[in-house]
Amino acid sequence: MQQERVYNFSPGPAVLPVEVLEKAQKQLVAYETAGMSVMEMSHRSAAFEEIIMGAQDLLRQLMNIPQGYQILFLQGGASMQFSMVPMNLVRGGKMDFVITGQWAKKAASEAARYGQVTTIASSADRTFAYIPDLDPSTFSPDADYFHITVNNTIYGTRYTSLPDTGSVPLVTDMSSSILSEAYDVSRFGLIYAGAQKNIGPAGLTIVIIREDLIGNPLPHIPTMFDYKTHADNKSLYNTPPTFGIYMAKLVFEWLAAQGGVKAIQKYNEDKAAVLYDFLDNSKLFQGTVDKRDRSLMNVPFVTGNPDVDAQFLKEAKRKGLVNLGGHRSVGGMRASIYNAMPREGVHALVDFMKEFEAQNG
Ligand SMILES: *Cc1c(COP(=O)(O)O)cnc(C)c1O
Repeated sequence: MQQERVYNFSPGPAVLPVEVLEKAQKQLVAYETAGMSVMEMSHRSAAFEEIIMGAQDLLRQLMNIPQGYQILFLQGGASMQFSMVPMNLVRGGKMDFVITGQWAKKAASEAARYGQVTTIASSADRTFAYIPDLDPSTFSPDADYFHITVNNTIYGTRYTSLPDTGSVPLVTDMSSSILSEAYDVSRFGLIYAGAQKNIGPAGLTIVIIREDLIGNPLPHIPTMFDYKTHADNKSLYNTPPTFGIYMAKLVFEWLAAQGGVKAIQKYNEDKAAVLYDFLDNSKLFQGTVDKRDRSLMNVPFVTGNPDVDAQFLKEAKRKGLVNLGGHRSVGGMRASIYNAMPREGVHALVDFMKEFEAQNG
């Protein structure tokens, strides 16, 4: 017997479209005419070649990735990119970072192993509840790259405009907002994202890199850490995470069928507005982020009373609204409402919050 699905507000690994899971289920034992599961297939087979190339083409279309950029399917998560980016992009040895949360901090501290990191701005003074204003006159003109975390999963902030870094490549961690809104890829030198928030199962990492940034790594880095290894071999230098790539392709197909990124962005804006409008009018619950910087994907909120928060989380779980706890470093609640979270899930959450407020307000 199949158990009923809940509304899963997990920050990651996160909800996937049910249509995608069902399609994968149908194809699990025997993929199309291959007579075997994708999991059992050679990564050098014609069938898998079609899957990986298809996934790449779909991602290129969905994100409108220009010629001159390569798409790489890697492993190691966003966390490995914290090291791989400096290993490949450091030339003179200077890097600029904006510190908007724990992931940005981790990225900066890894980069500092390879050169001199300058913190251009930080929002640590108010627990990362906003995106700091950036003044380009403070940027290092000779930096090897300028790093931002475009959506901050833990604190629920996002950049609504990108810094103008001139000829310095802009690098971003896009793990929790890739494909959720339209980004102009040509503004970036490099984009990286773990798949497990908006794309598919954990184990696949996406890198989108401008070609001129490939092929000049620091000496003595491992072959596997050199972007050129993967670019030259179409992400098939060694065995890639084959099933994850297959799942990503199904998600990309699903997203295209929803009308693509612009359409899902509108859907996401409407979904987030339902929750934010409620928070702005609630007497019990408050959002924790400055309005102009609110994320469309991760919505943190609190009651101000940890006991009431705990009670809320317990009752929500009983209603099939799960994984609403805030990050262990901040407490409170956080609803992650990625692309695959249906509008109905957000309505169910808000309905329950109203009910809880009436009883506890
Ligand atoms: C989840 C997340 C990470 C960590 O990703 P891993 O794939 O676990 O290394 C890094 N950055 C951001 C913005 C995230 O949301």
